Formats: sequence, structure tokens, C-alpha cells
Amino acid sequence: MSEAVSYSVRDGIAIITMNNPPVNGLGSKLRPGIMQSLKKVEADAAVKAAVIWGSPKVFSGGADIREFNTPKSFEPPSLPEINEEQDRMKKPLVAAIGGFAMGGGLELALGCHYRVAAPRTQLALPEVKLGILPGSGGTQRLPRIIPVAKAVEMMTTGNPIPAEEGKKLGLIDEIATGDLLETAVAYAKKLVAEGKGPRRVRDLTAKVDGDVKAFFAQVRDQVAKASRGFPAPLEIVACAEAAVTKPFDEGRKFERERFAVLVETTESKALRHMFFAERQTTKIPDVPEDMPTREVKKAAVIGAGTMGGGITMSLVSAGIPTTIIEMKQEALDRGLGIIKKNYAATVAKGRLKQEAMDKNMSLITPSLDLGAAKDADIVIEAVFERMDVKQDMFRKLDAIAKPGAILASNTSTLDVDQIAAVTKRPQDVIGTHFFSPANVMRLLEVVRGKKTGKDVLATTMKLGKAIRKVPVVSGVCDGFIGNRMIEKYGQQSLFLIDEGCSPQQVDAAAQKWGLAMGPLAMGDMAGLDIGWEIRKRRYVERPNFRYSKVADRIAERGRFGQKTGKGWYLYEPGSRKPIPDPEVDKIIADYRKEAGVKTRPISDEEIVERLIYALVNEAAYILEEGIALRASDIDMVYLTGYGFPAYRGGPMFYADTVGLAKVLATIEGFQKGYMGEVWKPAPLLVKLAKEGKKFNG
Ligand code: NAD
Repeated sequence: MSEAVSYSVRDGIAIITMNNPPVNGLGSKLRPGIMQSLKKVEADAAVKAAVIWGSPKVFSGGADIREFNTPKSFEPPSLPEINEEQDRMKKPLVAAIGGFAMGGGLELALGCHYRVAAPRTQLALPEVKLGILPGSGGTQRLPRIIPVAKAVEMMTTGNPIPAEEGKKLGLIDEIATGDLLETAVAYAKKLVAEGKGPRRVRDLTAKVDGDVKAFFAQVRDQVAKASRGFPAPLEIVACAEAAVTKPFDEGRKFERERFAVLVETTESKALRHMFFAERQTTKIPDVPEDMPTREVKKAAVIGAGTMGGGITMSLVSAGIPTTIIEMKQEALDRGLGIIKKNYAATVAKGRLKQEAMDKNMSLITPSLDLGAAKDADIVIEAVFERMDVKQDMFRKLDAIAKPGAILASNTSTLDVDQIAAVTKRPQDVIGTHFFSPANVMRLLEVVRGKKTGKDVLATTMKLGKAIRKVPVVSGVCDGFIGNRMIEKYGQQSLFLIDEGCSPQQVDAAAQKWGLAMGPLAMGDMAGLDIGWEIRKRRYVERPNFRYSKVADRIAERGRFGQKTGKGWYLYEPGSRKPIPDPEVDKIIADYRKEAGVKTRPISDEEIVERLIYALVNEAAYILEEGIALRASDIDMVYLTGYGFPAYRGGPMFYADTVGLAKVLATIEGFQKGYMGEVWKPAPLLVKLAKEGKKFNG
């Protein structure tokens, strides 16, 4: 017997206990032990029934992710083989489910003949979130035991249901109000006493009311609308239909075939890449995982503007008491008012309880005195984006903050090392670059200065996770990872306009490809004055940087985007819907004359390639310079901070799927075109393309 599974017999009931921390992943340690135990139950005449379980808190989280993509995941027996053994058993097998049964964990429970669960246990088949489907009979068994429509909902959303709902639906036979194992053993004894044998889920029938074809046509319609370019949800519907229309073994065969197809899709590969990429970001090569971290029990945020308010919400939502500091009462009141309004809107939508809002608000201490930051374990500064203002603030914070406090800046462009240099404790200074709206966006770029202490970095990454962000380490450079790349993307969007595209053509091509928003509409949302200010600074700092001045011509007319009702588009009062504006066409046409650009028709394909490869090429420089630790970190930045479509897996992953040689050849083609001098293929891209390699290993 493997160490991860123990077997004992009590009063004729075998107890099979799975023990593979932390989540009883059904890996190579667990599967053989389960199989042997099931056989032992059948072979031992003294055993009348069996219970399989983990602990009151853990049944099983499904496949062992540590073994993904390794030969271990294929070591026999497979989960389907275990399920078949469960079906062959002549003695009743009861699952005692505590905590959660997810994915393969729930399929194991579905292979059992009866199910007892602890209260509030979570039950789910979340495979769809990785672009696949439950591949061990889940799609055939679940619709046989709960209503088909509910089974489809669970499998296409991947969302869990609590055991209490499972009981109502028929998935759970009994809720254990007392001790879980004792209840399950008693349940098994009762089965024996009543002479009940196995009740195999495979022998039940999946039924729908009315016409099967019409039922699935409607389900397909609904699911297609919600599945946003992903094939898995519709394949799951097809499998559920097979559960209704075919015998179990045929349905299983169909499920296996559809699973094999989905595993190979780019969409699924992208989602799995994202899943692992998210778990990688906190791994920092020169910072050991057991690096002692500092305690963050209290925070202070300086500035109650757009960002300060959102950052404060993120902190208090995670239970961290936060002092928010402003210069003037009016600004403080405005900031707090917005925080309250945002929480109230979430309460109104039913996504937050009123008590939770009240608790969050009670954790905020407003102040007009910078001295109130003295107790904070971390101070996050979100004041105006000017070096002199930031340095002045850090000098003051250096004098006020307690020893060991982390001093963080939310700067989006400024040099964190220069900010740190004005303090006597540069080791305690770090950048925390949140994205707007900071209470919603998951990305947090953690900017590691030259002198930032390793423990400060580790603590900030840990805090990032605690406030439910995706923290990604960036080195110091202009724009860090995300904005440095977006500058090249924005530059191309303007060159495309110079050459003949309308803003709506560029945006439509980008959106059709999958981006949440096109570059011009994004500019209107962020405010065109921001980019204009940056460009004015750049004209001085980097006179050789090539820009189209077409965006300046728009901004010069006071067209700052949504906030002024006009930008690249027109906006009706209170609406965010961009409306094409003939005045903009005129400004663009005049600019083309001014710059002497000859226009030409440009395909949607070229638009997308120019935009995305501009990101990719800059990202290759960023990777080579060590600003980003790994390609997948860059992907996470774009997936969680820039509306990059999940099914494309991020810019680096996307470039890998296109093939780096092809990406390079296309970029070399662009070098010969309009403003071709801005396209300098990154040496890393050239090298990997030559070697036939990928960014993501
Ligand atoms: P904002 O103008 O909305 O807010 C800044 C606030 O800081 C104002 O309320 C101001 O009164 C306050 N403030 C200024 N000096 C202060 C001082 N000495 N003491 C206390 N309060 C002071 O600006 P924002 O958009 O929230 O940006 C803040 C920082 O975040 C900037 O560094 C910006 O670059 C960065 N950032 C902004 C965004 C964004 O999308 N807005 C995104 C990421 C990072």
C-alpha cells in the first residue's frame, strides 16, 4: 500500500483514507493506493462495505498539478481505471466528502455508490476553466444524478455548489451534521443492514423534460453566448447530450474523444499556461521561498485620488486597517465619498454584504496629518506624478515612518531608485504599481529598486497576494513592464492612422482579434491629456523617439477623451459609447497633408500584427534586460492588467504559437515600411527565432 493511502477495517466497514497534502491531488502517490484498497475491499470476506475519504476539511482537489506535464501523471492506474474498478465493485462504497471535491476529486466521488458530505462542502467540476472538460466520466455521471440543466451549468461555468444544494439536487445522500467519518460509517452500516448493494451512477438515466433536441438547442444557444471564443463549454454541452441520448459506455467514449481534441487546442493551452504563470510570479530566483517576511498589520496610503482610493479599498477589503492621508479636507472627503459609493454599488449588486461594507469602512482612518503614517507597516504613496513631489514626500516619510516600515510608491513612470535615494533607508523603498481602477484590476507590478531589500520584496509580493492581486516583479525602467510595452503599441496605432486607417478601423480590428478595447478607445478612456503630457516630456528627453503628431493635433483641441465628451470619438453625456466623429477625420486628413504621408489600404491582419508585434518586440528587450524575470510574467501583466484575451495566453505565448521565426520575418517586413526605423528586432527574438525556440521555454 502506498504511504498516501491507509486502510483499516472497523465492524466490517473498510475505511480508505487518502493523505496527499495539501489537497489530496490524485497524483501518482494516491492512485495506486486507492486501487489496491478497492481490490482489498472486494477480496476480504470480512468487509461488507467501504468508506473512502480524506479528512473533514479535504476530500480531493482533483489532478495533482505538481505532476502536470510530467510522466508521473500517466503512471497507472489512471482515474478512469479507478472509476471502472468502482463500477465493478459488488460491495457498496460510500464517499465521505469534507471540505471540497473538485474536478477529478468529484469524479472519484461520483464513482462511489453513495455520498455523505460535511456541511458547506464545495462540489465542482472546474475543468472548463482550463479549457478542457471532466475527462473521467464526469460529463456522463453528473447529468445522470442531478438535473441535466444544472449539470450543464456546473460544468460550463466550473463554479462550485455547496453540499446543501448537492443534497437537494440528489448528488449528496446525507449531510453529516456531526463527525463526518462516523456519519459515513454509520451510513455504510445501514446500507449493509438493509441489504443494499452498490447504486452505480452509470446505471441511472439522464432525462430532460420535453424534446431532447429542442432542449439542447436552447442550452447550446445560451452557452455559446457566454463562452467568448472558447470551444470547451460547447463540447461539454455535446457530452451532456450524449449522456442523455447514448448508453453510458458510448457516452464515455465520446467524452474521451472530445477531451483529446480540447487538450490540443491553443485556447486550452493558453488557459493552462495562464494557470501556471499565475503560480510562477512570486518565485524570484535570488529570493528563497522561505525568506522571512515583515509583518504588515497596518497600512497608510498617501493621496485619496483615483489611485489612493482604490488602493485603500484593496487593503481594507483584505482586512488591513488603513490610514488615508490627504492635504485638504475637501480632497479627503471627495476620496472617501468615492470609496463609499463604490462599495455601495457592489452591495446594491448583491456582491458584497452590507456588514462587510461597514466593516471595510470602519477599517479606514482618514487624516490630514502625514504624521498619522507613523504606525504603518507599509506606506503607499499615490500623490502627483512628479519627481520633485515624490522625493519631497519620501524625505518626509523617511522622517516619520517607523523603523522597518516599507515605503512604497505607486509611480507609473518615475525612477524608483531616484526616489529611494533621498531616504536614509533605500532598502525599505519599493514600487507598487497598481492599475486603475485599483480596487478591481488584478495586476500589481512590484518594482524592485537597485537597493530594495530581499525581505521587502518578499513581503510586498506576499501582501500583493493577500490583497488578491497578481503581483509581478519588474525592474526599474521607464514604464516598467506593461506601460513600456504599451508605448510601442500606441505608437503603432498612430502610425496606422497616419497611413490611412480610421480610429474605428484600428479599434475594430483589435477588438475582433480579442482585445477588450482598441488602442484609441483606450486612450479616450485613460484621458488623451496624459499621453500628451508624456509626449511633450519625451520630445525633450528623447528627441530621436519617433511619434506621429496626430494625437497632439487631437489633444491640442481640448479633446481629452471621455472626460471632455470628445477625443478620438464623440461621447454623449453620461455614455461611454464611442461615436465616430467627422471632425476627427478632418483633423487626421489635415495632419496627413502636414506630414506628407501617402495613404494606402491596410488590412485588419496588418493592423493586428503591427500592434501585437510591437508589444512582443519590446517585451523581448524587457526580458533580455532582466526587467521581467520570465516570459510568463509578461504574459500575466497583459492578461491581468491590459485586457489581453485569455484564450491567446498573453503576448509572449501568442508569439510562441505563431512561431518566432514568422514573427521576426513579419517585423523585418515592417522595417521596410512607414516609420520602419522604429522596428529594431530585439536580439533575443532573433536568437530564439534562429534556434527554433520559444519565449515560454
Ligand atoms: P490624482 O490626482 O487622482 O490623486 C492624487 C492625490 O494626491 C490628490 O487627491 C492630491 O490631493 C493628493 N496629494 C498630492 N500631494 C499630496 C501630499 N503631499 N500629501 C497628501 N496628499 C497629496 O492622481 P492618481 O491618478 O491617483 O495618481 C496618483 C499616482 O498614481 C501617480 O503617481 C500616478 O502616476 C500613479 N498611477 C496612476 C494611474 C491612473 O490610471 N490614474 C495608474 C497607475 C499609477
